[in-house]
Amino acid sequence: MTELPALGAHPGQPADLLIIGGGINGAGIARDAAGRGLRVILCEQNDLASGTSSMSSKLIHGGLRYLEYGEFRLVREALAEREVMLRIAGHMCWPVPIVLPQVPGLRPGWLIRLGLFLYDHIGSRKRVPASHAIDLRRDPIGPSLEAGYRHGFRFYDCWIDDARLVVLNAVDAAVHGADIRTRTRCVAARQEQGLWRATLHGAAGDSDVWARAVVNAAGPWAGEVGRDVLALPNPPQLSLVKGSHIVVPRLLAGQDALMLQNPDRRIVFVLPYEDDYTLIGTTEEVHHGDPADASISADELDYLLATSARFLRRKPRLKDVRWSFAGVRPLIESGAGGPTSASRDYSFSLDIPADGAPLLQVLGGKLTTYRRLAEEALERLQPVFPALGKAWTASAALPGSDTDDLVAWHRAFLGAYPGLPNSLLRRLARTYGTRSSAILGQARYPGDLGASFGSGLSEAELTYLRDREWARTAADALWRRTKMGLRLTADEAARVERWFGR
Ligand SMILES: Cc1cc2nc3c(=O)[nH]c(=O)nc-3n(C[C@H](O)[C@H](O)[C@H](O)COP(=O)(O)OP(=O)(O)OC[C@H]3O[C@@H](n4cnc5c(N)ncnc54)[C@H](O)[C@@H]3O)c2cc1C
Repeated sequence: MTELPALGAHPGQPADLLIIGGGINGAGIARDAAGRGLRVILCEQNDLASGTSSMSSKLIHGGLRYLEYGEFRLVREALAEREVMLRIAGHMCWPVPIVLPQVPGLRPGWLIRLGLFLYDHIGSRKRVPASHAIDLRRDPIGPSLEAGYRHGFRFYDCWIDDARLVVLNAVDAAVHGADIRTRTRCVAARQEQGLWRATLHGAAGDSDVWARAVVNAAGPWAGEVGRDVLALPNPPQLSLVKGSHIVVPRLLAGQDALMLQNPDRRIVFVLPYEDDYTLIGTTEEVHHGDPADASISADELDYLLATSARFLRRKPRLKDVRWSFAGVRPLIESGAGGPTSASRDYSFSLDIPADGAPLLQVLGGKLTTYRRLAEEALERLQPVFPALGKAWTASAALPGSDTDDLVAWHRAFLGAYPGLPNSLLRRLARTYGTRSSAILGQARYPGDLGASFGSGLSEAELTYLRDREWARTAADALWRRTKMGLRLTADEAARVERWFGR
């Protein structure tokens, strides 16, 4: 049997879209486009979500503080997405209560009350609970806070695993026929014969692909891709703002997160993380140079520890920091204000030359709004692809959440494997949802899952990550598709690395 040529290998059979960048925006556009019938190639120079999309605060949120900057459209759209994500990714997205202590001398109570009133009412809220004022002297969170804080508010946003959200969008894009090429860098793309001819550099060397249109979804690298890969005379201008997080052993009992106000008007979140940990972030520092080089600075560490210490009775110290990560926000350059007030909105630049192939460039954005961004990207491309299908992603579950009743599924899943530890089943359920059974198969006891790598990580899980989710290294598996890196010892992590290298 003769093998069919790969998608886009020939100008006679070009792909419809070549998407450069496998972060949340590239993966979201790939899924949406493939589901509408386009033939899509996505290339990611490293691992999926290896850029900004695994470095976020992991909140699907309206962004309460963006109301201060009058960003009503963005906040409304983002708030509405909370409900969508609860619907389509319910196994890994849930409401998180956030306590906002009032700080004397900073935002007055009436202003916060007004902001929360808007927050509760402008975003089609259904499943996310409403906010309320709390007396910190009587509320269960009170004893965790320093004595000076008496009044506060509890409001709700949603939590999600950012890197898994990217991977699941890519998985679903592939289900709809997209060709997802990780560790494949787009090194050049030029117009030829009314198409794009792009050179992709992957493990097997260089190869050319042909596409009717290109999407630059390279996040903080979008400017570099515009300049060096697409050779544009006016590449996108983005301002790059680094944000860092630290992870420490759990500081707060219960489900509450905290939103802490600083005298410089910035805010820091203290979030429950992976059962036994607390995630603290974020900072805002103008970043110069390659986004891949971002790492937490000593000043940022001090800032996060000092902010936490100002509010919390249990003060995290430098020696408590188990992990830190830093990412670079690609923000639309406004020229005015600083990084704190720079818009988190997104925009597009679309070029449809009369005798050439279109280029759509994605600028800015938030994790929260990726799905709407993808829908809008395809609306823009509609004139190029008149037969494009309708918008479909608002109601289509992502892989793992594809069941009518997630609660009933969860209960049945926990009961179906009596010989496996409950902690393992719970972790798998919130990581893989309904796909967990593809890992567990007929297993009855832990020994049925192949070699054990520690803390419940089995060969069966690694095999799934390699075969179904493009994991190729220990970091792909331990820090992006799971957070087992927090739990494994250095020796155990080295065994995982060796397993991938076999
Ligand atoms: C500290 C911090 C906290 C945040 N918190 C939140 C939050 O809580 N909620 C929220 O909604 N948003 C949050 N955000 C924003 C959100 O994370 C980003 O807007 C989003 O992840 C950007 O996704 P992206 O796909 O545009 O970029 P990226 O995720 O960076 O993806 C771009 C990809 O392009 C690839 N690439 C670059 N050049 C090439 C090439 N030549 N060929 C192939 N691939 C290439 C890169 O490797 C990269 O993987 C936060 C951001 C930061 C930095």
